[in-house]
Amino acid sequence: MSAAVETAEVVIVGAGPAGSTLAALLAARGHDVVLVDRAAFPRDKTCGDGLTPRAIPVLARLGLLPRLQANGYRAIHGARLIAADGDTWHMRFADYDLRLPDFGLVVPRLELDELLRQHAVEQGARFLATADITRPLHGPAVIGVCGRRPDGPLTVQARLTVLATGAAIGLLRSFGILRTMPIGINAVRGYFAGVADLADTFDFYFEHDLAPGYAWIFPVSADRANVGLGMLRGARSGPPPDLRARLADFMQRQPRLRHATPLGPLKSYPIRIDFPACPVVGDGFLVVGEAAGLVNPVTGEGIDLALESAEIAADAIHVALALGDTTAHGLRSYARTLHRRYAGFFRGVRVLLRLATGPTALGILIRRAQRRPWLARTIAGINLGVASPWLAFSPRTWWELLRG
Ligand SMILES: Cc1cc2nc3c(=O)[nH]c(=O)nc-3n(C[C@H](O)[C@H](O)[C@H](O)COP(=O)(O)OP(=O)(O)OC[C@H]3O[C@@H](n4cnc5c(N)ncnc54)[C@H](O)[C@@H]3O)c2cc1C
Repeated sequence: MSAAVETAEVVIVGAGPAGSTLAALLAARGHDVVLVDRAAFPRDKTCGDGLTPRAIPVLARLGLLPRLQANGYRAIHGARLIAADGDTWHMRFADYDLRLPDFGLVVPRLELDELLRQHAVEQGARFLATADITRPLHGPAVIGVCGRRPDGPLTVQARLTVLATGAAIGLLRSFGILRTMPIGINAVRGYFAGVADLADTFDFYFEHDLAPGYAWIFPVSADRANVGLGMLRGARSGPPPDLRARLADFMQRQPRLRHATPLGPLKSYPIRIDFPACPVVGDGFLVVGEAAGLVNPVTGEGIDLALESAEIAADAIHVALALGDTTAHGLRSYARTLHRRYAGFFRGVRVLLRLATGPTALGILIRRAQRRPWLARTIAGINLGVASPWLAFSPRTWWELLRG
């Protein structure tokens, strides 16, 4: 069977939020873009479906926010953090002057990712579904990708290749970007009907059995919710925890979920949080979104950073193509901007996670935050990635914590 050969200026592997957003932005600037994904769309992506306030400005700039709001997706105005003893801190985004919109959304990924992919196609990107990409195409540098479609082998030749493959690590390995298993979170989620007390909040539960990690309940409609849990990988000795069993136990303990009925199977998937451990540019290629390890390690949320990194990449690629330099050197402004924006945050948060992921420490934080506005604002800001995690080590934080 002869190989199908496509050519483009840019080939983007992965049509999740990072890949589709980048495809739309580049196509809108007149670039010839091929977007490929191994899935047939619309496709589901195992996720909590939570769009943080940080994701909203990018969706607004893409012109998609009015469509999402018109479709009636749930607006979320805050979060409830529930300690192991049931103590609850209800934080409202509007209360903390975080320089972000005062709401997020819950949009099932089956619908969000299809909207973003369609938008990319509307802007002029060509989309190839069911194309499983397995390796780079090499000239002196990377000059495209090779893989398979159901009808035979596929080659896409391009001046620039973008890896937007999320937590899947196979292709990153064959590009030589990842050599070992990256640090991350293992997570599981399901959709349930009959969930009680659903408000306009992202609800997080911190219990001893779930540490280091948490369970969540995110409302999809008046009585349906995305319910799941995530636990940091390799943080405990012994065999890895059985996440499905832990979720079942959590649901039994949780009165709100007593009458919940599943709307489909539970699904699990890993989350990468290892930015900035891996290179994000090379000769002829660039990495965006979760493929670059860009997921907030505190919350496990990565759609917002996927969207933001796509915007940063679009600017860098546009310039590199105009200058005719798609080497790692020509793409270095992308790597620099990512590092300037996110590296300090990821490093600080990792230290914080080592010190304060126990339910006891989190219980103290939740109790104090209810009475101390400065502390509450700091925690909210760190959770949304807009405050420095190093603030958690400042004398003011310790004063606010210790004065009872
Ligand atoms: C259980 C769970 C809950 C989560 N909850 C939230 C949440 O509530 N909010 C939030 O913001 N984030 C959440 N996340 C994280 C979020 O899902 C990801 O960070 C986000 O999807 C990253 O977007 P992306 O575009 O980088 O990659 P993805 O959305 O993962 O898209 C990657 C795409 O690449 C394709 N692909 C992969 N390999 C290949 C290949 N070799 N060839 C062709 N195509 C390929 C895949 O089919 C996929 O479509 C959660 C993750 C999990 C696992």
